[in-house]
Amino acid sequence: MKTLQDPKQLDSAIKNLEEIQLKFNKNKPLIFLDFDGTLAPIVENHEDAGMDDETREIVKQLSNKYAIAVVSGRGLSDVRNKVGLSDIYYAGSHGFEIAGPNNFEKDNEEAKKMLPVFTQIEQTLRQELNKIDGVRFERKKFTLAIHYRQVAEEKISEFHNIIENVVENYPDLHKGDGKKVVEIKPNIDWHKGKAVNFLRKELSTHKNPFSIYLGDDTTDEDAFREMENGIGILVGEHGNDSYADYRIENIEEVKQCLSALL
Ligand SMILES: [Mg+2]
Repeated sequence: MKTLQDPKQLDSAIKNLEEIQLKFNKNKPLIFLDFDGTLAPIVENHEDAGMDDETREIVKQLSNKYAIAVVSGRGLSDVRNKVGLSDIYYAGSHGFEIAGPNNFEKDNEEAKKMLPVFTQIEQTLRQELNKIDGVRFERKKFTLAIHYRQVAEEKISEFHNIIENVVENYPDLHKGDGKKVVEIKPNIDWHKGKAVNFLRKELSTHKNPFSIYLGDDTTDEDAFREMENGIGILVGEHGNDSYADYRIENIEEVKQCLSALL
């Protein structure tokens, strides 16, 4: 069982690279990577986020040796475009949409039924939030993200209240909170951890394949918890305790760590 720890108490992955490399070389690991805040810096405008060529090259080289999946809250086509590598797997919308090489595709069946409900709630929320400046909507296939990075500090509690009041009328949906983003998701027991477990079965013949997961946000905790046979590495912090095994300070250290695994 993974236990929750204060991120400050976690060992640095960079200081323990040898130990991680050792575990890595002993097993044939699967690599799971979050995108925003892990492979690409968090930026003011969500659309502007991108990974640099050096990171892309490292991930590409790793994918020649290991099975890799990028697991993101972004929509599948969005994250796939941003990473731009064709030989790896992608889990978009926190895993509601999964795709990979050779036309591999898997949408969550229950979530598919929710598509008209999303259209409805988006219309309502756009009207209700019209009075708050700086709100940005991003419709992904199975998630409605509402960004408030540019909303004035004194308007933020009103912003949350409006959304909570609307979501209350939709028992099939719930509101999740990320870094300066609210995400309306289907009330289906499905998250990054389940996506990772689905892919672990798909990508390996082992029953419990050794895996490594790097992520920076609260939604990554569901995946860290599944790293029973593996390593979770928290990038930076998200303000809560973590199920990760190690921490890493920033995306420069992510590069350092991934290069070492090559
Ligand atoms: Mg992230």
